[in-house]
Amino acid sequence: MQKGQIRVQTENIFPIIKKFLYSDHEIFLRELVSNATDATQKIKTLSSIGEAKGELGELRIDVRLDAKEKTITIEDCGVGMTKEEVDKYLNQVAFSGAEEFLTKYKDASIIGHFGLGFYSAFMVASKVEVLTQSYQDDAATVYWSCEGSPEFELYEVEKKQRGTKIILHVNEESAEFLDAFKLKGILEKFCKFLPIPIFFTDVNAEVKKEEEKEEEKSINNTNPIWVKKPSELTKEDYEKFYRELYPFGETPLFWIHLNVDYPFNLTGVLYFPKIKQSYEIQKDKIQLYCNQVFVTDEVKDIVPEFLMLLHGVIDSPDIPLNVSRSYLQGDPNVRKINAHITKKVADKLEEIFKNDRTEFEQKWESLGLFVKYGMMTDDKFLDKANKFLVMENVDGKFFTLDEYKTATETLQKNKEGKHIVLYTTNPVQQDAYIQACKLKGYEVVKMETLVDAAFLNTMEMKWENTSFVRVDADIVDNLIDKQESTESVLSKEETEQLKTLFTLQIPELHVTTEVKGLSTDSAPVIATRPEFMRRMKDMGAAGGGMTAFYAQMPDEVTLTVNGNHPVFQNILKESNEDIKTKQVRNLADLALLSQGLLKGAELTNFINRSVQMMQGVGQ
Ligand code: ADP
Ligand code: MG
Repeated sequence: MQKGQIRVQTENIFPIIKKFLYSDHEIFLRELVSNATDATQKIKTLSSIGEAKGELGELRIDVRLDAKEKTITIEDCGVGMTKEEVDKYLNQVAFSGAEEFLTKYKDASIIGHFGLGFYSAFMVASKVEVLTQSYQDDAATVYWSCEGSPEFELYEVEKKQRGTKIILHVNEESAEFLDAFKLKGILEKFCKFLPIPIFFTDVNAEVKKEEEKEEEKSINNTNPIWVKKPSELTKEDYEKFYRELYPFGETPLFWIHLNVDYPFNLTGVLYFPKIKQSYEIQKDKIQLYCNQVFVTDEVKDIVPEFLMLLHGVIDSPDIPLNVSRSYLQGDPNVRKINAHITKKVADKLEEIFKNDRTEFEQKWESLGLFVKYGMMTDDKFLDKANKFLVMENVDGKFFTLDEYKTATETLQKNKEGKHIVLYTTNPVQQDAYIQACKLKGYEVVKMETLVDAAFLNTMEMKWENTSFVRVDADIVDNLIDKQESTESVLSKEETEQLKTLFTLQIPELHVTTEVKGLSTDSAPVIATRPEFMRRMKDMGAAGGGMTAFYAQMPDEVTLTVNGNHPVFQNILKESNEDIKTKQVRNLADLALLSQGLLKGAELTNFINRSVQMMQGVGQ
């Protein structure tokens, strides 16, 4: 029998393990089960090359809970360890000393703790026993135990079957792990897709069920689709796997199978979920695996921000898991993985766009959000997406940017040669303006979603020679080009008179009045909201930084009085000043009403005044 001290430079590593990994104690199970998996994979390999002789037997991993005895046992039939190997791997701590460990992990935000491995058992156990038999015929079965201090015991025992059994004597503070439901849950979380079947047994529960002898069922799917070849998989396979990941999820729109082995290893399947409303967006749905071991579902930094909306799994042994986040961002592999995922997603979208445009357009409601978000945040993606971004006009027809420009080439260019994209944020509310645009032969596209306001702001900077103008930003003649006033039938005096009559004082509104000669079938008064100020106000209302200031400002509105409209011939002739004022005010209010800017007392006054006028009061 050998007794000794675990070799670490500073006197004791155990308090450090506890302190630094405090928040994540449950990972001990992942570490021990993945060690068991590694050992089992090794024996398979050794057997296949003839290094290990004899039958392999059923290769499985057993996790047994005995809450009465306060033990958790993890048993495998892998390669096992010789006495020398136990000494080498378990006694010589994975890191050479506590000091090094401290410097390595001083950043508190450690993600994943691979590398700590076997010793994480001491986060939850006051004593760990190991019983192991190497596959090598001449090796003895070895017993090792340690009680969470640098002292250990190591000796040979009676020969047992090949493999390793690890018994954890769960400590007082970790009693929670003696709960079968909890323990099984952790196992399912981390080991759901490990390549060796894993069985969970609650020893005490089993006693009761002895006669039933239910069919044993492993807790994991050893062959998840991401490790298979895409050519072997059907649509049903992908949809079934999606439900395995998200039992309550709606059928995804489509998916991308990632499969790279150079210059880094990366496999996985990313799904595009259905998104109806932007507020439904759920981030943190992508799971990160390392050789089929679950690591985390916080994939920020690894997956580009705009693709966080995707669902699915990615698996890469090349992502450094035991380092801080700030390091991760700068890691060349992580950056390459990021770029690769972005490229794959863009390629897939382009492929669907090219091969099945109808399908693409049908799914645009969900897709548009990814695409627009991606175009705003990632220039490489933008380059590709410029080809397949589509905009839907008010009649349900879709245009790419190029198609839109071609369709509007002659009509929607301003004097400087800039292309003007006319849009509506609310086809119902802005109907009058849309109809006016249609009469002119303009194409109006819908920009109704939450992301659109920011999207068009950004695209004006990224796309050359393109401006977005909302249909109600100006009277229709001025939307594309600021034109000089058309000829008016009114005299100079009459024009001045109308201008004075229409100069309104309305709280919360900043009204500018102009009198112009528009066509006789245009409305008598049109309320418009200058593009720039309206956007600022919208952004202010959506919240956020500098723009919050604009939210406080009064709404800016321009009243364009159409001097050529016949109604003004009567109004100008009206001798009763009271009636004249009321008529003018009603025309102005109708215009404001169409913009949704008539509210509160102003709205009440309008209603009362209208009723009075219909009753002929004051006439
Ligand atoms: P890592 O898994 O990163 O190598 P660990 O601390 O988890 O680090 O394990 C250290 C070593 O101990 C392993 O590399 C392996 O050689 C050995 N080992 C641990 N668990 C087992 C096991 N169940 N069967 C055989 N060898 C094991
Ligand atoms: Mg390990």
